[in-house]
Amino acid sequence: MSVQPSTHVIDDIQEVLISKEQIEAKVAEMGGIISREYEGRDLLLVCILKGALVFMSDLMRCISIPLSIDTMAVTSYGASTVSSGVVKIIKDLDVPIEGRHVLIVEDIVDTGLTLNYLVSALKNRKPASVKICTLLDKPDRRKAPVTPDYNGFVIPDKFVVGYGLDYREKYRNLPFVGVPKDYVWNEEH
Ligand code: 5GP
Repeated sequence: MSVQPSTHVIDDIQEVLISKEQIEAKVAEMGGIISREYEGRDLLLVCILKGALVFMSDLMRCISIPLSIDTMAVTSYGASTVSSGVVKIIKDLDVPIEGRHVLIVEDIVDTGLTLNYLVSALKNRKPASVKICTLLDKPDRRKAPVTPDYNGFVIPDKFVVGYGLDYREKYRNLPFVGVPKDYVWNEEH
C-alpha cells in the first residue's frame, strides 16, 4: 500500500518536543541577554541557511541594539540524517568582518562539525570576536569541541523538525520543534 502525502504537515508529527510558546519565551530571553552583552559593539548576526532562518528572524526582533545581518550557506548532511563530516561553504558572507563582533546564528549543534569548521574559517578573517548562538543543542552526539555561547534548549538524541529545521526540505514551516512519525522516514521522494 502506498503512503499518501499528508494534507497538513502537523499530521506527520509524533511528538511536540518544544512548543511555540516555549520557543517564543526563550527567544525573547536570549534576545535580551544578547542586547545587554553586545551593547556599544558593532554586532553582525550571521544566519546559517536555511535551518536558522526562522530562529534568526524571531531573534533579531528581540534584540534592541543596532545590528547588521548577513547569511551563509554550508553543506552538512545533504539529504541524509547522518553527518558526512564534510563541510563546504556554498554561499559566503557578502561583507568583510574584520574588526566586527560576529554572532553565528544556527538552528542546532549536533556533531559540532559544521560550527567547528565555520568558527575557524571566520576567525581567519580577523573579526573582533566570533560567538555561537543556537536554538538547540544535542550534546550526546558531539564529535568536535563546540559549545554554544548562547543556547535555547538542550535536546536528547532525536532527529527533530520544525521552526526552520527540515527533513528533506519539509516541515520547516511548523511553528514548534517536534519528532516526525516513523512512516516519514519510509516515504518515497
Ligand atoms: P553538525 O555539524 O553539528 O552535526 O550539524 C549541524 C547541522 O545538521 C544543523 O545545522 C542541521 O542542519 C543538521 N541537523 C543536525 N541535527 C538535526 C536534527 O535533529 N534535525 C534536523 N532537521 N537537522 C539536524
